[in-house]
Amino acid sequence: MTSNNLDAKITAAAEMILKSRRLVVFTGAGISTESGIPDFRGPGGIWTRFDPDDFTIQKFLKSRETRRKQWQILIGEGLFSRVKPNRAHMAIAELEILGRLECVITQNIDNLHQEAGNSPDRVFELHGNMQWVKCLDCGTRYTVEHIKERLDRGVEVPECERCQGILKPDVVFFGEELPSEALRAATEYSTHCDLFLVVGSSLVVYPAALMPGYAREAGAQLIIVNIGGTPYDSSATILIEEKAGDVMSRMVEKVREMI
Ligand code: NAD
Ligand code: ZN
Repeated sequence: MTSNNLDAKITAAAEMILKSRRLVVFTGAGISTESGIPDFRGPGGIWTRFDPDDFTIQKFLKSRETRRKQWQILIGEGLFSRVKPNRAHMAIAELEILGRLECVITQNIDNLHQEAGNSPDRVFELHGNMQWVKCLDCGTRYTVEHIKERLDRGVEVPECERCQGILKPDVVFFGEELPSEALRAATEYSTHCDLFLVVGSSLVVYPAALMPGYAREAGAQLIIVNIGGTPYDSSATILIEEKAGDVMSRMVEKVREMI
């Protein structure tokens, strides 16, 4: 894409945001790669190195050995490390400050939208949040920092301190139901928005990927900012296949200039 062409698309997207009355932003792992967290399906993504079949809830529950492997991967991939929101997260937080954002629907579990400044009650997390680890037996919740301390001390498979039960990150594994309240709210907002902006998602993980379809069916326009194709590319009004950090910060800067 020539820089002129990209600039024209960013300007057109900013104009659509200004005209929109109900903007929903939908994000996936691709928005956080520039913060240092690998995605699943992009180049170098987690699934190019590990087998997704190892990440089912059934496998997690099956044996201590499979839990040990999963904890090692989660730590190794940096999902427990302190990472910072990047320019794309900051731009989306600014849309809320500017009064232009209805809500963020995210598939991410990294808490970076909240850290960038979006109000927690406007962020709907379809796959949970890595900040918490929960005992599957007695329900006690631990902060991720608390569990990380134990892992750093050499504990391979953390267990509940109260009942020795199985601890699991409070995120949705393959084979698990999505949190019903977040799913209900996300469906509602997608069905009633007039503009749906996708940032950094391959849009192939269901039921999350139903959301852009609900928005389209309801007559909303679709903007996609994602490197790599998605099944919704042909129905997007604007498709930008460039890095989210640069594109989103330029887009929101244009919105600010035009207000
Ligand atoms: P995905 O890995 O399927 O797709 C990410 C997309 O983003 C890819 O098409 C990739 O090419 C693109 N991309 C990567 N870097 C980009 C950048 N800088 N700018 C623009 N596009 C970029 O991710 P998904 O659609 O979110 O689905 C994967 C699942 O993995 C989700 O369910 C999510 O819960 C989970 N996950 C979350 C995190 C996180 O919380 N940060 C990280 C990995 C996986
Ligand atoms: Zn317990």
